[in-house]
Amino acid sequence: MSGGDKLDFEIRPNPQPVTAAERAALMVDPGFGRVFTDHMVTARYADGKGWYEARVEARAPIPMDPASAVLHYAQEIFEGLKAYRNADGTVTMFRPEANAARFTTSATRLAMPHLPEGAFVDSLRRLISVDREWIPNDEEGSLYLRPFMFASEVFLGVRPAMEYLYVVIASPVGSYFKHGVKPVNVWVSPNYTRAAPGGTGAAKFGGNYAASLLPQQEAAANGCDQVVFLDAVEQRWIDELGGMNIFFVYDDGTLVTPPLGTILPGITREAIMRLANDDGRAVIERPVAFDEWHADADRGRIREAFACGTAAVITPIGEVRFEGGSFKMGDGTSGDVTMGIRKRLVDIQRGRSADPYGWVHKVL
Ligand SMILES: *Cc1c(COP(=O)(O)O)cnc(C)c1O
Repeated sequence: MSGGDKLDFEIRPNPQPVTAAERAALMVDPGFGRVFTDHMVTARYADGKGWYEARVEARAPIPMDPASAVLHYAQEIFEGLKAYRNADGTVTMFRPEANAARFTTSATRLAMPHLPEGAFVDSLRRLISVDREWIPNDEEGSLYLRPFMFASEVFLGVRPAMEYLYVVIASPVGSYFKHGVKPVNVWVSPNYTRAAPGGTGAAKFGGNYAASLLPQQEAAANGCDQVVFLDAVEQRWIDELGGMNIFFVYDDGTLVTPPLGTILPGITREAIMRLANDDGRAVIERPVAFDEWHADADRGRIREAFACGTAAVITPIGEVRFEGGSFKMGDGTSGDVTMGIRKRLVDIQRGRSADPYGWVHKVL
């Protein structure tokens, strides 16, 4: 299906990068996903030919024929991870091999070719290296990396495309929480689900997000920041949020999180389970019914709940709203267990504490 595990990315420097002064201005308050670096990675794939024309080149629009398959049948997958500039000046990524492996799993589900996992990680290293000046220097900022792949073949017809484009873009981002970590309100969607058994819920597939936008609007209309989805079969079990996994903290310190299956296998989720377990905390993967969450919160058995994912790392949940009521997590403020786990993970990600797991991948 593709050549060896190595793709040679030809470096073609952008002849017109932004000036240092312009870049500095853009990076003062970059927000999330609004500012982009000077370069991007592109690589093409064709059936029978494998991967070719792998490059790091000037970031630019991608010309597309109106019959490009992705525009009609949404064959597209993506990843998201961050590069950090540590206090000692080194640049690292957090578990890029795990993103590479998940990209392969997502590609399989969407009937797409596999990018060799070594080439995936190499493409990130090269883009970071060329755009190193764009990595924020401050303690909170990072360079968000967005690898993605889509069906570029020009045809109308329902079958896997025979041509694909792999792209990586990079975006300097500030802290997800501009004014310190703040709990979010979540809306439990009564009308919509995100993933059914046998569906695409476990793939990082653009269409999953498209389907979550209407329920997200419904959440906003109910004064909530995020939507929580229940399972598609019984509409009873907690799945996850639109783009984050979920954990519950019980009064005895136990962490409980819904099992894999229809949810996205988060790398943050997995890291939290490992860390908490090694710190002597019981961690249980089991289904949690919404009614159980409500009842156990009311009687003080569930003390805290949080969402997790690469962008915000860990987000405390303050209040849960649903059709017909609401309840708070503890007193509605960020819980101590949640914030402790958050600090533990962020310190490893940013090189402030030792990494016995081999999670931190040195780039520069
Ligand atoms: C990406 C994503 C997550 C979080 O995954 P991380 O690897 O921790 O960033 C959770 N849920 C969904 C639906 C996602 O797309």
